[in-house]
Amino acid sequence: MITVGILGGGQLARMMVLEAAPLGIRFVVFDPAADACAGQVAPLQVGAFDDLAALEEFASRVDVVTFDFENVPAASARWLAERKPVFPSPAALAVAQDRLSEKTLFQELGIPLPPFADIGSREQLAAKVAEFGLPCILKTRRLGYDGKGQFRLRSEADIDAAWQALGAQADKTGLILEGFVAFDREVSVVAVRGRDGEFRAWPLTGNWHVDGVLSASLAPATVSAAQQQTAISYARRVAERLDYVGVFALELFCRGEELLANEMAPRVHNSGHWTSDGAETSQFQNHVRAVLGLPLGDTRVLGHACMLNWIGQMPDPAPVLAEPAGHWHDYGKQPRDGRKVGHANLREDSTAALAGALERVGAALGRQAQVAPVVQSLRDGGVTPA
Ligand code: AMP
Repeated sequence: MITVGILGGGQLARMMVLEAAPLGIRFVVFDPAADACAGQVAPLQVGAFDDLAALEEFASRVDVVTFDFENVPAASARWLAERKPVFPSPAALAVAQDRLSEKTLFQELGIPLPPFADIGSREQLAAKVAEFGLPCILKTRRLGYDGKGQFRLRSEADIDAAWQALGAQADKTGLILEGFVAFDREVSVVAVRGRDGEFRAWPLTGNWHVDGVLSASLAPATVSAAQQQTAISYARRVAERLDYVGVFALELFCRGEELLANEMAPRVHNSGHWTSDGAETSQFQNHVRAVLGLPLGDTRVLGHACMLNWIGQMPDPAPVLAEPAGHWHDYGKQPRDGRKVGHANLREDSTAALAGALERVGAALGRQAQVAPVVQSLRDGGVTPA
């Protein structure tokens, strides 16, 4: 019996366990929190990510190591890799942990992206704001997620406020300034690469954020076939350069026909949650297959799928469960403001049927605003032909 160790015991680990268990493997999850929600479905080892004695014990219990959390200290990942195979590699993880190194990589690979600069002082910030023009966004290089650690500058007067908010981070996490992209849509490529180099991608996913947090995803996204191919070719370039093993997501902005890279996540991703109920093989199972060197499953979408995130508190499941292809995912977490506590997946054979299902669910749950942009996108024509 093979045991996969997962660093981080949140909902991503939980779904990996639930969806890869039929492969006949075991899991151990490692998390600093005793109530980490993956601990409800797999043995949980509680420990700090930099506690080498705890990591030594963890390594002794597992055959291979992977992540549900990308901000595990790179040094801990490297230390584990000297003891057990670790996928994705600590080197790939280190690139994706730092917005500056991932953007530099995109640039080297010829992937278009907004202008960016490493910022070490208020003077540099002012100089780069003048160069890029307004608006622009100051972000922490490391440890930011879901729009946290970001400051939008709309006028020159914001330079002081931005530096006051994030300047103290310059020495800790580093800072990066990015030009603002007036995008029409946000999309992501969720892709997987096996230990033998086989590469597969799910169809592009369209994403809507509220306050920097993912609210809804639609697959396939309403983009042209040409954009679909281009985005997937960018993801393949990144995966091959990093010799990446496992699932990852590449987030992109669409501005007309143009695609600009935002960031990559070196793990299964929230914008791939629809794959559990809307694709031949889910991102969770394919990640585990990749990590174990098993053949990868087909990534085709089964019709049209939408994911709705539940933030803070779980709503009533009944309206989703009443749908013919409505699926409920409760992460078993305590409700808390801003916390991702679950999601629903809806799947239908046509864009019209999915729009109808979303309208019913939105009305029943009082979530009309959440479903509206997805319904609009579906009504605008589903997948635009090339
Ligand atoms: P991030 O944490 O970098 O994914 O940013 C969270 C969200 O902020 C993104 O999904 C976008 O909606 C928005 N955002 C981030 N960077 C930019 C940018 N350079 N231009 C426009 N919007 C951005």
